[in-house]
Amino acid sequence: MVSPEKIPVLWSIVIMASPLPRLIPQSQKTSLFIAIALLLLLIVASAVIYYQRRQPLVKTIDYTQLSNLSRSAEAASLQIDGEVMTVTSKDGSLQRAIVPDSAAQKEIAEGFVKNNLPVQYQSLRPSPLSTALNWAIPLLTLAAFGFVGWRVYASMGGRGSDFTVVNGNGNQNVGFAEVAGVDEAKNELAETIEFLRDPERFGRLGGRAPRGILLSGPPGTGKTLLARAAANEAGVPFLSVSGSSFQEKFAGLGAARVRRLFAEARKLAPCVIFIDEIDALGRQRGRSNDSASADQDQTLNQLLIEMDGFNQTGGVVVIASTNRPDILDQALTRPGRFDREIAVNLADARGREEILKVHARGLILEPELDLQWIARGTPGFSGADLANLLNESAIAATRDNSDCIQRKHVEYARDKILMGAERRGFMMDDEERYATAVHEAGHVAVGLAVKNGDPIHKVSILPRGRALGVTQSLPERDRLMKKREYLEDQIAMLLGGRAAEQLLLDTMTAGASNDIERAVEIARKMVAEFGMSPLGPIHLGRADDPHSQALLDRIEHATSEIINAQMKRACEMVDASRPAIARLVEGLMERDTLEAEEIQECFGTADAQQAA
Ligand code: ADP
Ligand code: ZN
Repeated sequence: MVSPEKIPVLWSIVIMASPLPRLIPQSQKTSLFIAIALLLLLIVASAVIYYQRRQPLVKTIDYTQLSNLSRSAEAASLQIDGEVMTVTSKDGSLQRAIVPDSAAQKEIAEGFVKNNLPVQYQSLRPSPLSTALNWAIPLLTLAAFGFVGWRVYASMGGRGSDFTVVNGNGNQNVGFAEVAGVDEAKNELAETIEFLRDPERFGRLGGRAPRGILLSGPPGTGKTLLARAAANEAGVPFLSVSGSSFQEKFAGLGAARVRRLFAEARKLAPCVIFIDEIDALGRQRGRSNDSASADQDQTLNQLLIEMDGFNQTGGVVVIASTNRPDILDQALTRPGRFDREIAVNLADARGREEILKVHARGLILEPELDLQWIARGTPGFSGADLANLLNESAIAATRDNSDCIQRKHVEYARDKILMGAERRGFMMDDEERYATAVHEAGHVAVGLAVKNGDPIHKVSILPRGRALGVTQSLPERDRLMKKREYLEDQIAMLLGGRAAEQLLLDTMTAGASNDIERAVEIARKMVAEFGMSPLGPIHLGRADDPHSQALLDRIEHATSEIINAQMKRACEMVDASRPAIARLVEGLMERDTLEAEEIQECFGTADAQQAA
């Protein structure tokens, strides 16, 4: 925020005169609201003044006419204000003459007195109030526009806090010890820390200073944490800014912000600049001709200029993070810019255990609760998910009045994260519950029948999040490689719900829409990215690359072939396990949620014997 002293006096008058200052540091929406309120106020004030000053039209006459008028029967009264004499006629009209000569004035006045008509020495000039308002209104208008302009400018990043600075010895004491499961990334950053500790020595030895490092990986894997920890390890300030904050600016402001950011960094050097989500500003340039993208290009150019301008011993390191390294402009990754890319991936089971250790510090877990067990049951969880898992577990334990976190609390938290929070108090009638149970049972039946599926862990018809029911399957181990068969089985399982609706309920529900969306997404990737279709090894990477319509049509065609084939398969599998599905549906209607063992009971021996 801008401190009030910096605001020109005029503006501060407006701001102090209004109750608005408390609203100032808020979003642009608020400033817009303030602007509209101020303008409305002005319009109303002007209207009031206009109304006040509205008076009958005054006709200007000369002395002869005035003299005649004063003697006629029409005249009703006379007002004298300095040299201005105004006669009010019986019909209410006003006529005015300028009479500088006091003898002449006296003569007219005497005429009125003689006819016993009132003569007032009074001022017809505007009252002091309206004079003041006359002055105030243009000033206020100006101030209002100034204020709005300043607000917009400030909120657009014209001044004020463009970025946050955390000092090396700041309160956020994250060191490398707090970042777990990403050892490779930590190793890669070691050299950077070395450089930041003593930039000059690095230069003397002729080492090429690392200027730009790109951390790439899925969200929540600890990229921000790593950058901050690196700055802390080196004991240097950490300037952090989000790439998206450079967007939606007036033309040129984004570039100006980049300039200020680097100017500040040079002052604080050695230091780390951290640009979160750099893809927001580092997309390929020249994509389209609209002004927004032109301005973004300008911002990106400025960033490139600043990075090229670093001198070797300057001691400023820029770390950027992205989960879309593929869409970045190639100029960003040229030597001397972000020339080092460090992948920060989802941790494996061992890494997850390490991350859990970090976040379990200060939590009281029951002795039997094994972090390794949690780690094994959470494939695909990011560091942020794991931190969230322990936090939710602690909340569940507190709610339970338990004095330590138990296994059931962790399971509850995991279900909540994987499937969304339970919606208690949201009652489905029996028909809806039955339809939901059949749908979920379809997923389960297909999930159990396919060879390459993930084990089914739980099925429930308690509404959670936006879903009415959930079937939860978890990979036994981290899947690094996804085979075609696995993807096909996933699609079949997603379509299992709809298959059951069709075969067992003879209807379709809208509840399958999310399943279908996900199934089509996988199928399209198989065709357009993984080359797993009769179209052969094609790759349709960027959405904005030009493609022929014919190719797109063929991709759509191949995609729906996959979907249709898997839908057929799902139907066959559902058809083959009707008795088991009936048992499962019955169980769900009774108990809402069934665990792995109960599911096994429905599908287990009985069907196997039938088949034999
Ligand atoms: P990213 O920048 O990759 O999206 P963040 O660094 O913002 O992820 O991570 C968010 C939070 O998740 C961190 O503040 C931390 O609590 C937790 N976290 C993520 N990754 C890790 C990790 N590797 N070790 C410990 N905690 C982690
Ligand atoms: Zn479904």
